[in-house]
Amino acid sequence: MTRRELAEALAPAAGEEAELEAKFLLEASRDEIWLRQAISRRLAGEPLQYILGEWEFMGLPFEVGPAALIPRQDTETLCEAALGWLQDRPGAAVLDLCCGSGCIGVSLGRLAGARVAFSDVSPQALALAERNARRNGVEGRFFESDLLTHVPGVYDLIACNPPYLTGAEMKSCQRELTYEPALALYGGEDGLDFYRRLAAGWQAYVAIGGRLLMEIGASQGAAVCRLFPGATVLKDIRGLDRVVCVERK
Ligand code: GLN
Repeated sequence: MTRRELAEALAPAAGEEAELEAKFLLEASRDEIWLRQAISRRLAGEPLQYILGEWEFMGLPFEVGPAALIPRQDTETLCEAALGWLQDRPGAAVLDLCCGSGCIGVSLGRLAGARVAFSDVSPQALALAERNARRNGVEGRFFESDLLTHVPGVYDLIACNPPYLTGAEMKSCQRELTYEPALALYGGEDGLDFYRRLAAGWQAYVAIGGRLLMEIGASQGAAVCRLFPGATVLKDIRGLDRVVCVERK
């Protein structure tokens, strides 16, 4: 007899105690069903974060789902660099470009008091970012835009984690990664498409003295710096190239 059958058998029995017992058993059986489903989803390769539906980034809670990448520790390198620069610039205007879940912009809004705008080509990702901003008490502006094409305004800082995996990386990636949107991962055959497009037009969107911070793949430092003369590379906690920083002259 399953817990559910037992609970159903007990339910009609007279007395408050039996009713309480039935309620407890029904709740336990709901947990059991959830756990069974969670285990089979995980065994099929689905990332734990999507199963839980939320994940922590920079110490803040984020809703996660298949509309956007799961926030990664790699990206905390970019956030730390941005927080350092924003420290003595309260109220700075920040754009989280290719925002996905919104984890970068929400963190900068919440932890540095920045005025944040979010943009993404995917309306589903943008809606997720909006929910995450609300959840963390961050007010933002939201633009549906293919890179900078429909973003208005000029910013003190653009923070961007664009898709940067190469064609070969997409083919050889682990099973978990196939659950995440390819749109957010694939950066063209050599992984550099979005840096090339940004290099062609970012300066019109950043105030003089402002910064463009981009996350990169660990082997892309030199190639991305060639696209942005004067850029510097920052390393992540594993000592790998992870962020390219450019000043707007
Ligand atoms: N760092 C991610 C990964 O390796 C890729 C993120 C991205 O393309 N922006 O899965």
